[in-house]
Amino acid sequence: MMKTPDLHTHSTASDGTLAPRDLIERAAQQGVEVLALTDHDTLAGLDEASEAAHAQGLSLVPGVEISVTWGGRTIHIVGLDVDPACAVLGSGLAGLRGYREQRAIEIAARLERVGWPGALEGARALASGELVGRTHFARFLVQRGAAKDLRSVFKHFLVKGKPGHVAGQWTTLEEAVGWIRAAGGQAVIAHPARYGLTRSKMKRLLDDFRAFGGRGIEVVSGSHSRDDYFTFARWAREQGLLASAGSDYHGPESPWIELGRLPALPEGCKPIWEQPGFAGLDQHRRVGTLEPMQARLSAV
Ligand code: AMP
Ligand code: MN
Ligand code: MN
Ligand code: MN
Repeated sequence: MMKTPDLHTHSTASDGTLAPRDLIERAAQQGVEVLALTDHDTLAGLDEASEAAHAQGLSLVPGVEISVTWGGRTIHIVGLDVDPACAVLGSGLAGLRGYREQRAIEIAARLERVGWPGALEGARALASGELVGRTHFARFLVQRGAAKDLRSVFKHFLVKGKPGHVAGQWTTLEEAVGWIRAAGGQAVIAHPARYGLTRSKMKRLLDDFRAFGGRGIEVVSGSHSRDDYFTFARWAREQGLLASAGSDYHGPESPWIELGRLPALPEGCKPIWEQPGFAGLDQHRRVGTLEPMQARLSAV
């Protein structure tokens, strides 16, 4: 059995703090063998990550985390093993980034009204990529002393009912899953415990997701408790969905989350990474074992 891969991470291409190259190097240092880079609504980090992964001998699974509005809530759908050259996925994500720009202007205007001017420029300056998210606003507000840490900035400024909150208007679940499938990838519901859904709403989400061609849910996640692992292992089993695992790493500023530090999936889960053909991992392992032999042959 293969070591649990880390199939959910972020770089500076979205709201992580490590450049794709540094993320891969850290992953390699941590002993991670298989890593998916899943930046929010962009594939921009994948080229650099893939180059670095090659240099480190680590298997990179090209991925993305897509923002979706479903039932009036924001849901995140991870796409794994996507073709970064897929035009359908590319233009879908470009649309979401366009919406992010408008939302950023609106967030900044609202923050200005409660006494925090300059947030758009401040957030942009903290975003090294092309994408501005709430995390960048949160870091800006922490720097200005509006709150002591990210968690409390979110709580006091950026969530529903707070002055900097803008209700998300992302893409639909059907479209997000469709783009991932068009790119030859597997759609996975990110950190399902985070949405605060009742059992009946969760059932509805999973039914919709499966009907659109969704394949898996994150059972093990950096934002899940141990109880959540078992709850969602059971949902996966009962709903005939595959299980995924990912740290949701955003950078060393949150030291309680580390790359690849993930427990094994609970008993009875079907790991998405063990599906035939997944990210070419089976082939990669074959090549990995053949290489020394070829090297010996060519040395003869
Ligand atoms: P956005 O997609 O721009 O709305 O931002 C969502 C991101 O904000 C998530 O992916 C997390 O990285 C971050 N985030 C959301 N809630 C919190 C929180 N309570 N504390 C810290 N970070 C959060
Ligand atoms: Mn994030
Ligand atoms: Mn997420
Ligand atoms: Mn994430």
